[in-house]
Amino acid sequence: MQPAMCVTLSWDDGHPLDSRIADMMSRHHLRGTFYIPRTAERGTMRAAQIRELSQTFEVGAHTLGHVVLTRAHDRRAHEEIFGARKWLEDITGKPCLLFCPPGGRYAARHVRMVEQAGYCGIRTVELLSLDWPRREGALLSMPTSVQAWSHDARSYLQNIAKRRSFRNLWRYLAHGRAADWPELSRIVFAEARRQGGVFHLWAHSWEIEDCRAWKRLDDVMRFLADRRHETPALTNGEVCGVGAPRSPAFAAWTNFDSTTPIVHS
Ligand SMILES: [Zn+2]
Repeated sequence: MQPAMCVTLSWDDGHPLDSRIADMMSRHHLRGTFYIPRTAERGTMRAAQIRELSQTFEVGAHTLGHVVLTRAHDRRAHEEIFGARKWLEDITGKPCLLFCPPGGRYAARHVRMVEQAGYCGIRTVELLSLDWPRREGALLSMPTSVQAWSHDARSYLQNIAKRRSFRNLWRYLAHGRAADWPELSRIVFAEARRQGGVFHLWAHSWEIEDCRAWKRLDDVMRFLADRRHETPALTNGEVCGVGAPRSPAFAAWTNFDSTTPIVHS
C-alpha cells in the first residue's frame, strides 16, 4: 500500500563528512541514500567507510570521477556510468540500483546508458517537487523538494524553467521567496502532509560544513523525526518501490512496512 506521503533524504559526493550526516540520521531514525563517486574535488570516503555506511543506508552511484556527463565524450560517459555501478557493488556487495548525474546534468543518450548499465532509477536535482518517482523510459526519475543550501531567486527560477513545472513555480511563489532552507523544509513538508507526495531533502555534507549549518540540519532532522509515527522515512530506492510498485527491481528490494500508518489530508 502506498502511503499518502513519505520522507526521504539524499546526500551527494561521498565526502568524508557524510559519516557525520549518517550519525545524525541514525540518531533521528531517518532513512536515505548516499550518492558516492570514487573521486571528487573535495575528497571522498575510503572503501571501508563506504562499506560500513552501506550496512545501514542505501548507496547509489555518482559516476567514478564526479564527471559532468554533458561535458564528457560519450565513451567517457559510458565508462563513468557503467564503472561506477561495478565499483560500488564490489565494495558493498549489494545491488546498486540508483544513479545521480553530477551537477544534475544529463541528456537522453545518458538515460539510455544508465538503463543499459542496469540501474533502475535516476535522482535529479529538480527542486520544489513533491512528486512520486516518474517514468523516464524504462527508468524511474526521482525529483527533490528542498536542497539544504540557500539558493537565490535566479537559481530557483532557472531550476523551474528548465522543467516547465507550473506546480513547482506555484510552490516557489507561494513559499520560496522569503524562506531560507530550514523554514522552506517545514513549509513544503506541511504541504506534503496536506496533499500527499514525497518530501525529499538533499544536500552535500561539505556544504553543510561550509555554511556551518550542522545545528540547523539537526533541527530539521528532529522536526522530521518527530513526525515519523505518521510519515514513514524511506531510502530513495524504497520510495521508488512504494511509489511505482510495478517496477520489479524496487518492489523486490524495498523493505517498506506496509503497516505504517497512512497520512490523511
Ligand atoms: Zn556531485
